[in-house]
Amino acid sequence: MAEREHEHVRVAVIGSGFGGLGAAVRLRRQGITDFVVLERAGSVGGTWRDNSYPGCACDVPSHLYSFSFAPNPEWPRNFSGQPHIRAYLERVTDTFGLRPHIRFDSEVRSLRWNGEELYWEVETASGSLTADVVVSATGPLSDPKVPDVLGLDSFPGKVFHSARWDHDYDLRGKRVAMIGTGASAIQIVPSIQPTVDRLTLFQRTPAWVLPRADRKISGLERWLHAKVPATRAARRGLLWGIRELQVSAFTKRPNELGLIERLAKGHMKRSVKDPVLRAKLTPDYRIGCKRILLSNSYYPALTQPNVDVVASGLKEVRGKVLVASDGTETEADAIVFGTGFHVTDMPIAHRVTGANGTTLAEEWKDGMEALRGTTAAGFPNFLTIIGPNTGLGNSSMILMIESQLNYLVDFMRQLDVLGGKIALNARPSAVHAWTRGVQKRMERTVWNTGGCDSWYLDSNGRNTTAWPGTTAEFRKVTRQVDLAEYEVLRVPAARRGERSAQTVKAVA
Ligand code: NAP
Repeated sequence: MAEREHEHVRVAVIGSGFGGLGAAVRLRRQGITDFVVLERAGSVGGTWRDNSYPGCACDVPSHLYSFSFAPNPEWPRNFSGQPHIRAYLERVTDTFGLRPHIRFDSEVRSLRWNGEELYWEVETASGSLTADVVVSATGPLSDPKVPDVLGLDSFPGKVFHSARWDHDYDLRGKRVAMIGTGASAIQIVPSIQPTVDRLTLFQRTPAWVLPRADRKISGLERWLHAKVPATRAARRGLLWGIRELQVSAFTKRPNELGLIERLAKGHMKRSVKDPVLRAKLTPDYRIGCKRILLSNSYYPALTQPNVDVVASGLKEVRGKVLVASDGTETEADAIVFGTGFHVTDMPIAHRVTGANGTTLAEEWKDGMEALRGTTAAGFPNFLTIIGPNTGLGNSSMILMIESQLNYLVDFMRQLDVLGGKIALNARPSAVHAWTRGVQKRMERTVWNTGGCDSWYLDSNGRNTTAWPGTTAEFRKVTRQVDLAEYEVLRVPAARRGERSAQTVKAVA
């Protein structure tokens, strides 16, 4: 058999976090085995591989924060830690036979749509290939964001980001500056506070923090979940239902969240007796506007004698001295950035060139938009998992991912039904109508009206990340591909003849 000029696959999946592994499982279950998973690192897990900072855990209960098709009766805690979540993803990889599909150390460098052949040309760190369909599952929390701080290069000590923790560097006995008060920072602070010499927290905006109802899942519960699957399903169902009921307060009636603010203030008061520190830590925006954080150890850590809270952002670094926006100066041996990720400006978007010769980043310069959170106009056969406006503030992203995987499976089915060498390109009118609808609903949400700035909003102040509805509603709207929303692209008949001649040559 003569060798093809290049490798061609039906589907190329980018990333092997929850989204990429989930896509791989669903493709296989659909009988599609001609696919590869392109992973830039040397192991699976995505954000749960990269975030290994001390105290890293998920604040969505594990029985909900896991695949419906891969239940795990053995979750050790309500909110399991990163090592357990990462191990779960490794097990999913083996259980579902995904390893042969995965290409490690294969960072995608560019993706270019070939409108003649109707396929994607994919350049990776380990070689090139073409693919009929691309599933981009790089995730919004994959590329760390470090603020452009004046003089940072002059800092003689250690600097790293929460998602790139340097485990070889010992923080014990050091003067550490923690930058940020997001979900990552508030887990790091209590984990390192007991061992560092001094901890200075640069708090640009205080966070709302609620108690964390964490506990060990008992041996009896685990036994029951393993032996009587209905108990596991009931637990998941309950966790899901409670969160669905909360949605309307976030999306339609933010004033109802005032009650939750009182709970959060009480939580702070129980740990922080000093009224000056309490005033510093009290947010001036509606709870829920930024992600609500859960911790029982954050406030107690901030009251310890080796901790200072600077109620201001980090503005400048002058050698060992860190200068806050309010002028406070602090000396440090190490800086840990808990400053989040490139969410609304996903780096992968710069590497994808669509049918019009423009990149996804160029198309999205005024804000990301995609039909049903998944397909962008001008980027045929290209699906983004956790695409625009699919993020949640209060529930499990795995539910959203699985809905998008239903959409992917139906997308593949539609391609088969239509037959031949074809591609589906989202109609601009459909994408705009979808986006208009989402943005209209966004006007009332706490994320847009709560009086805060957050990573849900892009540089134009538009919320292009959150989903303004329930997960059940998203599941419904992603159940099937509506062909009326797509333009069907076909290789012209003359080209088809040429192609089949080539194919005959390739397999002869
Ligand atoms: P984040 O929520 O984006 O928080 C970044 C923090 O850095 C904010 O407090 C921000 O302040 C601050 N910041 C940025 N520049 C600064 C500066 N120059 N000086 C001082 N502070 C500065 O990032 P993250 O904490 O990594 O969390 C990202 C997302 O990951 C979360 O929202 C969540 O979805 C997920 N996550 C979940 C968990 C969990 O389940 N427990 C844990 C970690 C992460 P401003 O608020 O003023 O912008």
